[in-house]
Amino acid sequence: MQAVSSCRLTRKVEASLSRKSPRIKSQDTPRSLAVLEQRVPHCRRCPELRAYCAEVAATKRKAFAHWQYWGRPVPAFGDHSAKILIVGLAPAAHGANRTGRMFTGDRSGDFLYAALYRAKLANQATSTHADDGLKLHNAYITASLRCAPPANKPTPQQLANCQPYLIDEIRLLKPPVIICLGGIAWNTALSALAHTGAAIPKPRPKFQHGGECQIGSTMLLGCYHVSQQNTFTGRLTPAMIDSVLKRACELAGRA
Ligand code: SF4
Repeated sequence: MQAVSSCRLTRKVEASLSRKSPRIKSQDTPRSLAVLEQRVPHCRRCPELRAYCAEVAATKRKAFAHWQYWGRPVPAFGDHSAKILIVGLAPAAHGANRTGRMFTGDRSGDFLYAALYRAKLANQATSTHADDGLKLHNAYITASLRCAPPANKPTPQQLANCQPYLIDEIRLLKPPVIICLGGIAWNTALSALAHTGAAIPKPRPKFQHGGECQIGSTMLLGCYHVSQQNTFTGRLTPAMIDSVLKRACELAGRA
């Protein structure tokens, strides 16, 4: 999973996600998260992203030349009864786009799953491939975009195309706690909650690490994204994400 931060992009994303597009109105919410997870890999709403993911899967990175890349949209992963929903940005081209599981096979995932393990939300601290035995307890991981974007930069239209999946995940899971990894995840979660009928405060709450915002029956928690550019520079430390996860567990325990 990778992070993008850009004020201009964020403003465009807010505007684009706030519009009630025909696609959002027309998508039928599936009867379960399992059905939704099966549906996502077949999505073709963004042909340019499908082509990019397939190209990456065909050309591969030298270190992963022996891998059969996933190369398709990546479904959410975790506990279908979770009270904590974690929203990232998008699959990494050689991470989740390779392994087919959220935050699996890259440094971002190494950081996140180690933290989830410390918080007792995961049964192991590592996430290397889809059959590595990893299980989540009380946590479900999704993303703002389910295809890896070129140059790590999703467009507002692509984020809007993908938003109905997050809306469905929120409708099906009804999470009392959502952890947003970065500003784009914060904005997509806010907009998705609005589409489920929740009232969004005005002025619209801004993302900040450690920030909290009650939206209807859901508490939004902000956390810097677990990208290398944050974790390698010390902007996000293990202690900082541990604190957010501890707070999420406290809130989930009360729900
Ligand atoms: S980014 Fe989302 S909406 Fe676009 S093709 Fe991938 S899964 Fe579909």
